[in-house]
Amino acid sequence: MKHFFGGASRRRKRENPNRPQRGADLRLDIEVEFREAIFGAEKEVEVNHLENCLDCNGTGAKKGSKMITCNTCGGIGQVQQTQRTLFGSFTQVTICPRCNGEGKWPEEKCKTCRGNGKVNKTKKIKIKIPAGVDTGAKLRVPNEGDAGLNGGPNGDLYVVLHVLNDKEGIYERKGNDIYMELPLSYYQVALGDEVEVQLLDEKTKINIPPGTQPGKIITLKGKGVPILGTDGIRRGDFHIVINIIVPKKVSSEEEKLLRELASISKGSIPKRKEENSFLNILKHALHMDK
Ligand SMILES: [Zn+2]
Ligand SMILES: [Zn+2]
Repeated sequence: MKHFFGGASRRRKRENPNRPQRGADLRLDIEVEFREAIFGAEKEVEVNHLENCLDCNGTGAKKGSKMITCNTCGGIGQVQQTQRTLFGSFTQVTICPRCNGEGKWPEEKCKTCRGNGKVNKTKKIKIKIPAGVDTGAKLRVPNEGDAGLNGGPNGDLYVVLHVLNDKEGIYERKGNDIYMELPLSYYQVALGDEVEVQLLDEKTKINIPPGTQPGKIITLKGKGVPILGTDGIRRGDFHIVINIIVPKKVSSEEEKLLRELASISKGSIPKRKEENSFLNILKHALHMDK
């Protein structure tokens, strides 16, 4: 915008006001589903832009209408104004206010565009979302901005993406990495287990070693989000965060066994290793929020 306001008037002095001018670039913000951003997608978007009026070919004149030369500027599109001050007189060249720099206008205006030469149109455009995009990614769609002036080229359309969170709340994305909580029972972590885990696009079995602590992170390298521009060859990591679920209610049989277990291990509260301390788990959680 600064460019437009700052440079335009000075440049116009020497340049022909009827010269071709490029149309404005447009910005369109769209939401992209969690999985669409990860694996890519084709989407249809609606853009509202200025197109050349087909009825008058962008001239703004009714078919067969003559063009009238502006009598304020004599057709050059500019006027000179002389100001007298204490320090002398200054001549300033400005755009002709009568014809808005065009130098001429049609005797009869085109009815479709009311003489503007342009019409506002909503157009459906198919765009390709590459795999691995994240919020803030800008896709350039050439020529789908506003139509140019005097036969100038169209502007471009910039589609700005906003990636939504996983609807089911299973996966959390941080850049190209994915975090997923894996709830396990006390028995599974105490005795060890093999658990099937649903990754982004495949299932895999992971081994839970006996004595696994809550907050432990099992990282599967290269099973995260495809890295943009690598055709899915390179991917981020998939992190499985172990959580231990304490049952809210136990059956009477379970209770009996638990009481027995409690009496066996009475007084022996297991010590945690330093790296699995509650504080360290908290630090890890904070790190995830970076
Ligand atoms: Zn028209
Ligand atoms: Zn004029």
